[in-house]
Amino acid sequence: MAAATHRCRSCGETGLVPVLDLGLTPLADRMPPASHVDRDEPRFPLEVAFCPGCSLVQILETVDPGLLFDADYPYFSSFSRYLLEHSRANVLDLIEARRLGPGSLVVELASNDGYLLKNYVEHGIPVLGIDPVPALCEAAEKIGVRSRAEFFGLDVARRLAGEGFRADVIHANNVLAHVADTNGFVAGIAALLKDDGVASIEFPYVRDLIDHCEFDTIYHEHLCYFSVTAVDKLLRRHGLYLNDIRRLPIHGGSLRLYVGKRDEPGAAVRNLLAEEAALGLDRVDYYREFSARVAGLKSQLLALLRRLKAEGKTIAAYGAAAKGSTLINYVGIGRELVDFVADRNVHKQGRLMPGQKIPIVAAEEIAARRPDYVLLLPWNLESEILAQESAYRAAGGKFIIPVPVPRVA
Ligand SMILES: [Zn+2]
Repeated sequence: MAAATHRCRSCGETGLVPVLDLGLTPLADRMPPASHVDRDEPRFPLEVAFCPGCSLVQILETVDPGLLFDADYPYFSSFSRYLLEHSRANVLDLIEARRLGPGSLVVELASNDGYLLKNYVEHGIPVLGIDPVPALCEAAEKIGVRSRAEFFGLDVARRLAGEGFRADVIHANNVLAHVADTNGFVAGIAALLKDDGVASIEFPYVRDLIDHCEFDTIYHEHLCYFSVTAVDKLLRRHGLYLNDIRRLPIHGGSLRLYVGKRDEPGAAVRNLLAEEAALGLDRVDYYREFSARVAGLKSQLLALLRRLKAEGKTIAAYGAAAKGSTLINYVGIGRELVDFVADRNVHKQGRLMPGQKIPIVAAEEIAARRPDYVLLLPWNLESEILAQESAYRAAGGKFIIPVPVPRVA
């Protein structure tokens, strides 16, 4: 078993226990151009394992970041309105709770095009965005968000601290689980944070992934799947402490951690750690039966799509997101079942879904071509997308929601 040669991304332990194998899979965020319809794509093993040493759930394969994030990577995400409002509310809370002002500094890691930090700029609070993609930093600078194009880690943090940057607040949303050097990233946060500063860190919660069968949130860019137990051990190794925590509905169920340099865990942290111990998130058995449920979802969804096709129905899909790629490739949904994938992001239109090579078209094609059914790939945005497509539904169109159990809406 490949796991024997791997070390835990957090604690370094060997002897990781495989719990789910999604097979040889193309990179989920790499949509090939339409002209590549007959070309093979690189495929990599996608296998999930549990660490008995620190409880961290992780994938075994680390794809070279140069391959993952090359010039073809779709950098400019189409942010949902919900995500933008969610970020803004968090910022306003922190400005008040931390009494931030013109003498403060807020740093964001993986700052993208500055959509979060611009909320601080509007309040006159100095910011620094760090993102590895130069084009994103340029876009952020245009809206007044000071940015640096760097891969964040301990070296960059020390250099910034040497230049006098010390952060009152550090934001790290949906990045900790994606970085190959997990310990270097957390050590960097410790080096850049003021002694009384706070880091606000968000990532999907592995408990929601398992409980709601969200296997399609597993892909090669997403290396770690944290429980509170596992992240607590990671933080402590670097002199950081989990002091408050919230469960959020975003991305199918996420955690927001509030982390500082003093060990003062609030009731929410103590309660979640106790719940995880009671449920067994620190033991491999909790993850083992997940594999059987994922296989059950696959056969149910395939049976539903094949039955509709046999009845002469037309089927499309909506949302060319990474999770859609994992889902169609693992379940085996190709052009014989789904005619096209509609997406609002113009950078994805005219391309193909990885592996299955289903064409990606404009969202308006749903209204124009009126398929009988639409498979909703970003099921986490169900209410938002169903509201956008109310005219299609009013005219008799139906959505298929694949997770946690396939159903028609
Ligand atoms: Zn470990």
